[in-house]
Formats: sequence, structure tokens, C-alpha cells
Amino acid sequence: MRTVPEHQRVVADLIAARPAATLPLSEAEGLVLTADVVADLSLPGFDNSAMDGYAVRVEDVATASAETPVELPVAEDIPAGRTDALTLRPGTAHRIMTGAPLPAGATTVVPVEATDAGTETVEIRAAAEPGRHIRRAGEDVTAGTTVLRAGQIVTPAALGLAAALGIGELTVRPRPRVLVMSTGTELVAPGTPLQPGQIYESNAVMLAAAVREAGAEVVASPMAGDDVEEFRAALASHVGDSDLIITTGGVSAGAYEVVKDALGGPSASVDFVKVAMQPGMPQGAGTLTVGERAVPIITLPGNPVSALVSFEVFIRTPLRAAMDLPQPGRSHREAVLTEACSSPRGKRQFRRGVLDRAAGTVTSYGPPASHHLRWLASANCLLEIPEDVTDIDANTPVRVWDLGGD
Ligand code: AMP
Ligand code: MG
Repeated sequence: MRTVPEHQRVVADLIAARPAATLPLSEAEGLVLTADVVADLSLPGFDNSAMDGYAVRVEDVATASAETPVELPVAEDIPAGRTDALTLRPGTAHRIMTGAPLPAGATTVVPVEATDAGTETVEIRAAAEPGRHIRRAGEDVTAGTTVLRAGQIVTPAALGLAAALGIGELTVRPRPRVLVMSTGTELVAPGTPLQPGQIYESNAVMLAAAVREAGAEVVASPMAGDDVEEFRAALASHVGDSDLIITTGGVSAGAYEVVKDALGGPSASVDFVKVAMQPGMPQGAGTLTVGERAVPIITLPGNPVSALVSFEVFIRTPLRAAMDLPQPGRSHREAVLTEACSSPRGKRQFRRGVLDRAAGTVTSYGPPASHHLRWLASANCLLEIPEDVTDIDANTPVRVWDLGGD
């Protein structure tokens, strides 16, 4: 039997990063920059007003106060977006709005609140300091500055900065494109009436969500019956668009194991193995070659809990590492077990748990068997119990994978 760390390495070695790509801003969110971003422009691009008010010369309003206002003719009205070059003549004011270009010759802006808001003439009721309420060209960014670095995640603010600089595309590590495929003749899509012996398919939507939550893209999430030809055809129709294939079901020891039957055998490049873990013992990993294309394929067991735990344990971290994400793995911590629990000898057990982050305690949640999806849905962590441990007492620290959420 393969150990968990051994299979983690096999899977990690299969999942490779895509070449960097230059994507429009709208597609770059959450991805990691592979190149520095240098500003071509300065920000602000021109001196402009920080307030709605009046552009004036400091000396023209030097004596202004509430008691002795200064009256100036309003020679121009400058809304934001006015593009003609204006010059303020001495002894006049220009009404100006926030973000509008400052006319040449103006040395200060008097906010509208310190005036009578006039449009023909304006009464200025306060003196003003030089440069007040003026945003100077380049005070935020000077052209030529490196504003974002390779390795940084494209956050909403980084997108805003790029857009403000007139940059429409960023060079990033693209999301891996993942095909999620379920197998099983017993499966029917939710929404269809069930015949006796049939069950609703649940792995596809669950794993597709897990893939997207990890940051990757889902190409498709079809299901196929336990028919080798049908399964191969479904794979072939998507392989061209996929960087990784994840299948569920059809890999255990019974008959009609479609994934094993289709991809196993002496000439195959997928290894089907047993991993010393619970849940998730039957696993497979390798490469699917269709024509010119060779795509890594990870074949997970079909039980929903096994499938999702296997995704967590083997796939999620390398998938995120392939996106250059700085923290690809879940955060791990120790928490104190509230109740005793047991674990099979020789297998690493991943129990579902409820972690109280503030108290630092964890409670095992639901039975360890691999079809109890209900408990997984309300858990917020996995408890990892080592191979050589069979019984753990209450109040013992255990290793926990924090699955996030509340
Ligand atoms: P298998 O690994 O194909 O033998 O499947 C193991 C168990 O998981 C069986 O009870 C299947 O019915 C169930 N199962 C497999 N795939 C799915 C799926 N996509 N959705 C729900 N249950 C599944
Ligand atoms: Mg099956």
C-alpha cells in the first residue's frame, strides 16, 4: 500500500503550471502576476481640484474673511472632463469641480462651502493657503514606477490601479482547466425521477465547486455510465480543453470498475493503487494521452466523502501551487479533541470535525464511513489521525486541517 505522503507526491508531480498568459483585467482577478507592472503614466495625470469650489490666485483672496469677503468675477466654469487648456487671469475666479483640471495660474482652490456659490461673481469668505485642495500630477504614481510585482495576487485594488493607469491586460499564471467526470450506471442527474436502485449524482457538482473554490476553472462536469466506450468517448471529447482530469468512481476492487477497465492494464499510463488512508483507499493517477495531448488524470473513489476528502488531501494544494498562489495549502493546526475516538491501525484517518477556533478544540463529527455526506456538509475541518494511532483519548491534541468558512 502507498502512504498518503507518497501519493501526495505522485499527484503533485503530475499537476503542472500553465504558461503565463496576458489576460484582460476582467479575467485576471485572483490570479498571480508573473511580471512586474510598470506605470506608463503618472497619477494624477494633471493637477486637478480636490474639492468643488473656485480656483483662484492666493494673493487675490489674501484679505478674505467672513466679515470682509472678496468678490471676484467667475470667468470660467470647469466641470470634471473639460479638456481645453485654460488660464486664470489675475483678479478672477474659475468655478471648478472635484477632479477637473486646474487652470494655469491658479495657486489654490477655495471650497464652495467658503463662498456664496455664485456663478457670475463669487464672494470668497476665507483666505487660502498656496496649493490647498490641489492634487498634484504624479503625487500618487510617477511614470516609470513599478507599481505591482510578479508574485502578487491580482486583488480588486490591483485591478483598480491597473485600470487607472490605462493598463487593460495583465500577465498572470492562468487557472488550470479541470474536467470533473463522474462514473456510475446507477447515477441520475438531480431533478430526474429515480428508478429503484438509482441514486442522484452528487460528486460532479461538489467537486466542480471545490475546484472553483481552489481557484481553478471547470471545463465541464459530465457523467458517464459504467461502459468503457462511453467513458472513453466522454473523456476524449473534453481532453483537448483540459489541463487536469478528475474522475470519481470505478476504481475499487469490484467488477464493472469502468475507470480501471478503461485506463488500466499493462500498457496504460495510469497507476491504480491502494493508499493507506480512510476514507479514500482506492486511488489512481497518471496521464491520459489522446492524439497529441497528454493530460494528467487523477481517479478518485466514488463515495462522495472519499471523493471530497481525496480532493482535499491530494489535489487542492498542488492545483493551487500550479497557480503560484502564495498559500496553496489549507492551514493546519493542533486542536484538543473533546471526545475520545478510534482509528484503524495502518491507515491515516481523516475524520470530519467541528473546530472551535477560539477555544482550540475539535469534535469528531459523524461516523468515519465514506458515504456520510451529511456530516461533511456541516464540518469545518478534517482531523488527521496518524497510521499508528488506534485510540485517542479526550483532551489529546490532534492535527486539524481548517477548511475555512465559519
Ligand atoms: P464506486 O467507486 O464506483 O464503486 O462507487 C462507490 C460508491 O459511491 C457507490 O455506492 C456509488 O453508487 C457511489 N457513487 C459513485 N459515484 C457517485 C456520484 N457521482 N454521486 C453519488 N454517489 C456516487
Ligand atoms: Mg461505480
